[in-house]
Amino acid sequence: MNTKYTNLLLLLCLLLLKNTIVLAQSANAPFPWPEGKSVAVSLSFDDARLSQVDTGTALLDRYGVKATFFVVPSSVEQRLEGWKKAVVAGHEIGNHSLVHPCSGNFLWAREKALEEYTLEKMQTELQEANQRIQTLLGVTPETFAYPCGQAFVGRGQQTKSYVPVVAKLFTAGRGWLDEAPNDPAYCDMAQLMGIEMDGKDFDEILTVIEAAKANGHWVVLGGHEIGAEGPQTTRLAMLEQLLQYANDPANSLWIAPVGEVAKYINQQRSGR
Ligand SMILES: [Zn+2]
Repeated sequence: MNTKYTNLLLLLCLLLLKNTIVLAQSANAPFPWPEGKSVAVSLSFDDARLSQVDTGTALLDRYGVKATFFVVPSSVEQRLEGWKKAVVAGHEIGNHSLVHPCSGNFLWAREKALEEYTLEKMQTELQEANQRIQTLLGVTPETFAYPCGQAFVGRGQQTKSYVPVVAKLFTAGRGWLDEAPNDPAYCDMAQLMGIEMDGKDFDEILTVIEAAKANGHWVVLGGHEIGAEGPQTTRLAMLEQLLQYANDPANSLWIAPVGEVAKYINQQRSGR
């Protein structure tokens, strides 16, 4: 082989090596959260339960923290003034479907069972829910939470995922009872992991946040009622400790609604 080709080969090898190093670095580099923060956390609450605006938003507002409320329009109507105040305070209103369909394995969902749904019916209802929320509150949801965390319609060999419908209509879709935080460099916005915060004390939540901080991940917490105690209830005591922790700059935590974090990640990923 003459010198010219040897040099060319050497140059190619160096280029390949350089690209490999750059790729390895970008895979290992911590995700660039705003202001050099180490971890992102989103608080989200489902179903537009009455306690969310009767009790919860006052606490959130006292700490200046914005959450995401995934609402069902018919429940919003029961506390319309409270929800309007929540919007004015800057909380995000997400879509949680029109009638909260889940597997008919739940007796209460038998008349609105996902097993009997089609993708067309699901899309129509999600759009109708958006329109009703727009009429009630003047905002159009950009994010969605899967009722019961279930993302299918039909049954057996005819089962279909409605994740693509959610991906088409929303910036993000959140699951439920998931086990892990989201890796911002990789996660699918239409299937974000949602970790339960109902019934947990602050130490349990802190463990989740500290593990996520070690990897620069995004913790999306999900809850239902907000109160002192009870089933499916995010504890006020836990929430207050979490809000104090989030507001302490020493903890290097970015706390923001699901849609805001999702959009920020999308911008970073697209290189803007
Ligand atoms: Zn729900």
